[in-house]
Amino acid sequence: MQIACCAYVASLIAVAKADELPATFSSENALISYIDELNTSHPSDPNSVIELTNQLIDYALKNEWQEAYLHAAVLKFENLLEQDNIAQANMLYQNIYQKAKAVNNDHILYLLAVNELDLRFSLGEDVDFDALYLPLIERAKKTDNPYVITNIYFAIGLNQYERDLFADAIQSLEKAYQSSKSVDDTFALSQILTQLSNIYFDLGDFPLGIRYSEEALAIAKQIRDLFSESVILYNLGSAYFSHKNYETAENYLNEALALSKKLNDDIGVAWAQASLADIALENKDWMYALDLYAQAEQVFAMTGDPELEFGAIIGQVRAKLELGAYAEALSKLDTTYDFIKNTKRLRSQIDYTKIYAQIRYAQQDYKHAYDKLEEVITLLEQRYENEQAQDIQKYKIKFDTQLKESQNALLLKENEIQSLQLETQERQQKLWIIFVCLTLGFMFIQMWHRQRFKRMALHDYLTNSPNRRAVLAYANDCYRQAEHGNTPLSFGIMDLDNFKSINDKYGHEVGDQILKRFSKACQAVFNSKEQYGRYGGEEWLFVTNEQNKEAIQALFEKLRSEFNSTKSDTSPIEIEVTFSMGVAYYKKGKDHDINGIIARADSNLYLAKQQGRDRLVVDE
Ligand code: GH3
Ligand code: MG
Ligand code: MG
Repeated sequence: MQIACCAYVASLIAVAKADELPATFSSENALISYIDELNTSHPSDPNSVIELTNQLIDYALKNEWQEAYLHAAVLKFENLLEQDNIAQANMLYQNIYQKAKAVNNDHILYLLAVNELDLRFSLGEDVDFDALYLPLIERAKKTDNPYVITNIYFAIGLNQYERDLFADAIQSLEKAYQSSKSVDDTFALSQILTQLSNIYFDLGDFPLGIRYSEEALAIAKQIRDLFSESVILYNLGSAYFSHKNYETAENYLNEALALSKKLNDDIGVAWAQASLADIALENKDWMYALDLYAQAEQVFAMTGDPELEFGAIIGQVRAKLELGAYAEALSKLDTTYDFIKNTKRLRSQIDYTKIYAQIRYAQQDYKHAYDKLEEVITLLEQRYENEQAQDIQKYKIKFDTQLKESQNALLLKENEIQSLQLETQERQQKLWIIFVCLTLGFMFIQMWHRQRFKRMALHDYLTNSPNRRAVLAYANDCYRQAEHGNTPLSFGIMDLDNFKSINDKYGHEVGDQILKRFSKACQAVFNSKEQYGRYGGEEWLFVTNEQNKEAIQALFEKLRSEFNSTKSDTSPIEIEVTFSMGVAYYKKGKDHDINGIIARADSNLYLAKQQGRDRLVVDE
């Protein structure tokens, strides 16, 4: 569960009331003031605002009212942005920009510039945002209109927040706060406070986040802005949830749910339900969780938000697992297969893999569970690497904020400046050193753990050779290369002869020594072009780019003589051990994965055994 994202809250700004369009307007100015009135009036559903703006645009064009057209088009553009309909918003932006530029309409160009920040960010373009801020800041400095100042610093602050520039975002939002406070622009105030609280929650400052949220809530209630109120209630619920205070969280979320229902805000209802379901899981109230998730899932599916839909499905899978309905849990999980295959979000992949392993484990299917858990480890390693980078950035920002705060405090106590400055600098330096040491130490430990994980995961503990997983991964890689290119590829399976009787005769430990000897021989013979691994008990798989019978025969002979010449380190007894080998070639067009080739290599091995062992059988 997370705090409602910026875009969601931002959708409250500059939304208009979707009244019925008056039949006629007496003049262009009458139409313009109608549009401006819409722009500053209370929030409502962007969809119906867009419908309305389409009518306004038609009306303006029919009368050839250029100025009114621009006002209506900007309103439509803003609402497209709020809806995250970025492609359309961008097209409309280009159109308005050209027209406004041609007639040098300063007001329209200013409105575009304020919204351009959000547009560029949503487009994911590589943009120098600081350069975009400059003209806006200039304008804010020149004007004495507090609404313009609020608008500009709010837009900049949101953009900085989206860019994770927390300290800068706080500064900008505080400027917006001051100017909106001066005219008691309560609607803006509640938006600004909400954003500030989100930032403090993100920075892990729970008490300050709560304080700002509660202030925002009080204002929203005062101005009867029910929509904002429901969002703030939701945010408060999420924050208390993250703080593991489930009772308070539940109260806020239930309030948010009731309000969203009253507003017919389906998405708000679904968000609250999904979060209440998270709490129900914590309270082990499985049936209730199941019901809430299922309701939320329907809405998320309809609104086309696959991440949220996935979250609601995973929640149901968890509840079903806890209820012991394993088959049902698996088939529900199966419905997310396409999403998981296409998503780039590691978090979702981890959730999917982990719960799959848990179900298999509960079904006592340990093999499947183990394989999946290994996948989780690999995913966690990737996630850790990503998060590490983000965390360092976050801590650095937190550190910067602290630095700025203490510098501000310094200015207030002028007489103590000198001594304090020294002290603070020293303290900051110490803090910084501690922080760097902690981070590096943590990274080092994690790296060490990771390496151990990798060794455990890819190496065979007895012979220390690559294990089945490693050699199969290599085989798959080579297969993909061979499939796309023209490199030849063959797989071979080797199996020690009469190994059971050796175990029986000399004991398992001697058998183990022989396996280690064989591993050493493989290591000596297979060069960098080939890869081998322990495929099963005393079976080995190797992969080679060779498809020439003589060359493979030579490889077999070489391995045989190497194996015979390596002596056991510990065993005093000299035992004659032989092995057999079956090799199959990759056949382009006929093979569609590695399984067929391995199966053919296995039948060749079987032939070698039948023909008397201690020999090689290769595809003709
Ligand atoms: P064949 O020539 O037909 O391959 O006869 P075999 O006796 O080798 O038959 P099979 O391959 O079926 O037997 C494999 C034996 O390998 C059975 C098992 O006791 C032994 N084995 C498997 N893993 C290990 C291990 O890690 N250490 C030891 N000492 N023995 C193992
Ligand atoms: Mg065998
Ligand atoms: Mg054998």
